[in-house]
Amino acid sequence: MILVFAEVIENEIQDLTYELVALAKQLGDYKVVVVGAELEGIDGDVIQIDGILHPYHYKIAERLFEKYNPEAVLFANAPFGMDLAPQLAGKLGIPLVTNVVKVENGDRFKATSLVYGGRVLVDLEVDKPAIFVVNRGYYEPVKGTPNVKNVVIKVEDGTELLRVIKPEEAGVDISKADVVVSVGRGAVDSLDLAEELAELLKGVIAGSRPVIDQGLLPKTRQVGRSGKTVTGKLYLALGISGATEHVEGVKAKNIIAVNIDRDAPIFRVANVGVIADVNELLPVLIEKVRKVTEKP
Ligand SMILES: Cc1cc2nc3c(=O)[nH]c(=O)nc-3n(C[C@H](O)[C@H](O)[C@H](O)COP(=O)(O)OP(=O)(O)OC[C@H]3O[C@@H](n4cnc5c(N)ncnc54)[C@H](O)[C@@H]3O)c2cc1C
Repeated sequence: MILVFAEVIENEIQDLTYELVALAKQLGDYKVVVVGAELEGIDGDVIQIDGILHPYHYKIAERLFEKYNPEAVLFANAPFGMDLAPQLAGKLGIPLVTNVVKVENGDRFKATSLVYGGRVLVDLEVDKPAIFVVNRGYYEPVKGTPNVKNVVIKVEDGTELLRVIKPEEAGVDISKADVVVSVGRGAVDSLDLAEELAELLKGVIAGSRPVIDQGLLPKTRQVGRSGKTVTGKLYLALGISGATEHVEGVKAKNIIAVNIDRDAPIFRVANVGVIADVNELLPVLIEKVRKVTEKP
């Protein structure tokens, strides 16, 4: 039996859950554990648990594991799943595979996982039981009708969820902007110039994850798998290498990339590639754009 943990954030089932259900269907009989959410669209047997589950309540997962003795437990590669899965695996002493894009059932599980930021795929054979943290976008979501069973589990582990701290709303939704000027690790020294260019082009500033992690731009400006997907007319990638997790969030019609490294992966997805030092190029580019935009 496969135990699937629905990804629930503030009482809402997250879409990735339906992809986990699709994978579970391929692996065998399954049950979906849902904590504190409406059961919208869950196909198959659902174990509904009332209350708010938060990562520290791995004890709930542990009890369900003991009760159902599953061959595999599936979590979403999303905030809740990413926190709970390693705790459960550590506690139970069973294998954990993260960044999973494929799982097949057999005497042992065969799984494919993304490593080195998505640059390399590895095939693994894993003993049963095992825990898999599954990435978005590899299984076609399955929706259906839930067959619900309520389970009451009480845990007293000395922790309590006090509040959920959401990222600040920055007032700008980069996913809806027509023009996005995006700064990578290679362009942090020219962040001010990039902001100036974005303003001239009537666009918005965004960045890759390292730039957000350094606190140079708010989280709401992050492009990529763990950020937002940009869908506008132009994406200008400045000093961005083009890691898979970044490129997943770039769905703009036109992509112009500036990088000093002619082999940078970003050039594989760019419509226009410029091999240049952004710090030298930006002042010149700003001047040119200013001349064009300020023409009477
Ligand atoms: C689970 C997971 C989720 C992730 N989610 C995201 C995400 O949502 N968004 C995201 O961006 N990343 C994400 N990442 C991180 C991702 O794998 C990369 O590490 C990240 O995108 C690299 O950012 P970068 O291109 O800015 O930096 P780097 O990879 O360090 O690239 C910097 C680039 O700048 C170039 N450069 C250096 N100096 C100059 C210069 N003077 N002029 C021009 N070019 C220059 C270099 O040649 C290089 O190509 C995630 C990773 C994981 C594991």
